[in-house]
Amino acid sequence: MTRFQPPRGIRDYGPEETVKRNYVFRRIREVFERYGFDELDTPAVESYDLLSAKGGGGEEIKKEIYYFKDQAGRELGLRFEFTTSAARYVTNNPNLSLPFKKYQIGKVWRYDRPQKGRYREFYQCDADIIGSAEPEADAEIISMTVDALKAVGFSDFYVKVNSRNLLEGLLVQEGVPEGKCEEFMRSLDKLDKIGEEGVLEELVQKGFPEPLAQSAMSRVTSQESLYSGLDKIKPENDLATKGFEELEGLARALEYYSPDAEIVLDLSLARGLGYYTGLVFEVWSKEFTGSLAGGGRWDNLIGLLGGKSTPATGIAIGVERLILLMEEKGMFKDLPKTACRVFVAPVNDQVRKEAFKILKILRSAGINAETDLMKRKLRKQLEYAAAKGVPYVVFVGPKDLAEGEVTVRDMRTGEEKKVRIDDITSMFS
Ligand code: AMP
Repeated sequence: MTRFQPPRGIRDYGPEETVKRNYVFRRIREVFERYGFDELDTPAVESYDLLSAKGGGGEEIKKEIYYFKDQAGRELGLRFEFTTSAARYVTNNPNLSLPFKKYQIGKVWRYDRPQKGRYREFYQCDADIIGSAEPEADAEIISMTVDALKAVGFSDFYVKVNSRNLLEGLLVQEGVPEGKCEEFMRSLDKLDKIGEEGVLEELVQKGFPEPLAQSAMSRVTSQESLYSGLDKIKPENDLATKGFEELEGLARALEYYSPDAEIVLDLSLARGLGYYTGLVFEVWSKEFTGSLAGGGRWDNLIGLLGGKSTPATGIAIGVERLILLMEEKGMFKDLPKTACRVFVAPVNDQVRKEAFKILKILRSAGINAETDLMKRKLRKQLEYAAAKGVPYVVFVGPKDLAEGEVTVRDMRTGEEKKVRIDDITSMFS
């Protein structure tokens, strides 16, 4: 019989993987909370009307929404990120005190083309500041993301920033008709995926004359430090000036918020999702093609959903790519394979009761511990503990018990020592 598999692009996460994942979540959550953010939990299923709302994710993402009808015929979909749900929440809770600083950690779903680091179900750690139009809010989001990535152990990454207003203004300066900039930017957003030639081909297909497409593209495909990059820009229209000023404000705020971070001005950065209004940012690793995190300003969405017009900015860190990179770089090598710290092993049947007592002492002290539940011989118990990766085994034997002791083995070094039962918890705390 053929065995059932998860749907294409969707995977199981075995216990060893969830230990890694939970480690990453824990670290990121700690940093988010250190910055004064609280967790918001919204449903995985939202009405399709919300997910596809005008001013929301945009046309490109609509093709990727998991869509279905419930038994009463309601049109629903799975969330493809958290921002739309957050905007709905703020719309429905107009008395929230601002700025509303929230984070969300959970699964999102996109009918994307599966490949390395790209799945149809994946986790995001998302954080938003709702209510502040100040560049300090953007700087706080960037600085927090930098700290979160450092907390999980990364150092080799940089932050790309841009303003969609500056990009649009520069495209107009280069001769792209005003009403066509959005379309131009949608193709430009695929630069990392399909390269300059691919983008050019797509632009020509869309009807942009090749020389125009080429010159406009070469105007915006430069990357350099935010500070020196800004010096070289001469905005010639209102939109470009607005974008330039947004970036200047961000640069000023970042100077004291996140002075050590590597910030790159990437004039081509547009970000695919439709709701971005001004500043946009992405975090890139030097060792992975594709962004690790992405975000920006979404000042219009709450107003468009019928709420009081409220500025907002935020970011989503993609967890799968972090884990992929961490695995490749051996960053999990010191992380235990299991959350269990101690295996209590009775050496024979007569001491099983005593072993349970010791197990209880450990658990009452908050130490993750387990014992044999299959009446196995000691050798088999040890094989189990080793295969699971439990770092310590406590041997419970009659001779030691007579002395009020047990023997503790460090499974990584093989080192053993006798410990008084009265002191057993201090060994693991
Ligand atoms: P986005 O919401 O598209 O801005 O993406 C934010 C982050 O989520 C990206 O930087 C990636 O790290 C991650 N991400 C986006 N799409 C996928 C996907 N299909 N599979 C895994 N991670 C993804």
